[in-house]
Amino acid sequence: MTPLNLPRPAWMTEDLVLLEEQVGRFCQAEFAPNVERWNHEGMYEREVWKKAGEAGLLCPSMPEEYGGGGGSFAHDTIINTQFSYAGFDSFGAPLHSGIVAPYILHYGTEEQKKRWLPKLATGELIGAIAMTEPGTGSDLQGVRTTAVKKGNGYVLNGSKTFITNGQHANLIVVVAKTNPKERAKGVSLMVVETDDAQGFRRGRKLKKLGMDSADTSELFFEDVVLPAESLLGTEEGQGFVQLMNELPQERLLVATHAMAMMERALQLTIDYVKERQAFGKKIIDFQNTQFVLAECKSEMTAAKVFVDHCMGQHIEGKLDTTTASMAKYLLTDLQAKVIDRCLQLFGGYGFMDEYPISRMYRDARVMRIYAGTNEIMKLLIARSL
Ligand SMILES: Cc1cc2nc3c(=O)[nH]c(=O)nc-3n(C[C@H](O)[C@H](O)[C@H](O)COP(=O)(O)OP(=O)(O)OC[C@H]3O[C@@H](n4cnc5c(N)ncnc54)[C@H](O)[C@@H]3O)c2cc1C
Repeated sequence: MTPLNLPRPAWMTEDLVLLEEQVGRFCQAEFAPNVERWNHEGMYEREVWKKAGEAGLLCPSMPEEYGGGGGSFAHDTIINTQFSYAGFDSFGAPLHSGIVAPYILHYGTEEQKKRWLPKLATGELIGAIAMTEPGTGSDLQGVRTTAVKKGNGYVLNGSKTFITNGQHANLIVVVAKTNPKERAKGVSLMVVETDDAQGFRRGRKLKKLGMDSADTSELFFEDVVLPAESLLGTEEGQGFVQLMNELPQERLLVATHAMAMMERALQLTIDYVKERQAFGKKIIDFQNTQFVLAECKSEMTAAKVFVDHCMGQHIEGKLDTTTASMAKYLLTDLQAKVIDRCLQLFGGYGFMDEYPISRMYRDARVMRIYAGTNEIMKLLIARSL
């Protein structure tokens, strides 16, 4: 799919090349033909998760002993990129496998890992992370959801919003205050199995500008009684540190997603301008078209080299917050520019729903907002100056 002519990065081993081919075939056969229907219906079916689990596309980087694929974040990235090449940008699996599962692997007790990870790998459990609330997003320390100790366990109260996988998820990592008097030090991560949770309620699947088939939702917790083992790990007040440690991967995940979308956008545009004609010429034969696409390709090549560098660093456990923030900010900003320029070359068809470039334009917008806004990324980068 990629229109870039870069050699494979050093982290791309032979097994990853094979994985890329296999997953590419699977996604083109199973997902690509359904994406437009799912977007139109506003949600993909629960069955999709099961299919993804059976095909080994969930939790590829979790250890085999917990039901995962035994790979690394490189495996996640290869799979996520193929989802995107198939146009399935709304799928919540990258968050499920690359964000939710790692919290459990890195901070869970042995019992918690054995209880939840194998079911996340099959798709029996669908994961979500609930940080954002109606009153607070960027300022995570200001969350008002509380998990108050009662007897042997906790009682959870609060509202969350904009939660990816909100309608399907049945294993939700909830950011809550176990000590509401404190800011960062009062934050803990509570893992809620929602299937039998009294007092848990899903709100609306929110209508939004893009990511049409993603079940982004409100969630409500009203006196939800949780056992003591719902606290992720064994110590209260560690939630903020746990979040900060995991955010570089979340940011790199968004950067690699942005890269995949740009590659698809550029390829679709090259194909289109080689077919479409105006004034007796193909659109590609206008020098303006060539210059615009040359600019896109050049800037994307530089971005890809950088994101591949970040991937290499991350696989070696060396990716720092500043560099991950730069990747998220740079790639999602560039994504908006590239997709906008590509859409222009489609003329009126670029504005029509049946052309994927139109949906990509809408879907791309949120990527400068979620996983920490690009303004927050700049704040983090500025701290290193
Ligand atoms: C489709 C979608 C999916 C999402 N999925 C999830 C999810 O799964 N889980 C989850 O917990 N959240 C999720 N979110 C929420 C998302 O992470 C937040 O929207 C985001 O962090 C911003 O928070 P906010 O919306 O409260 O904006 P605010 O924090 O209110 O920010 C408003 C504006 O002020 C700017 N701003 C804020 N603070 C500063 C500052 N210090 N300096 C400069 N500018 C600042 C922001 O950059 C932004 O432009 C999702 C959001 C969307 C739209």
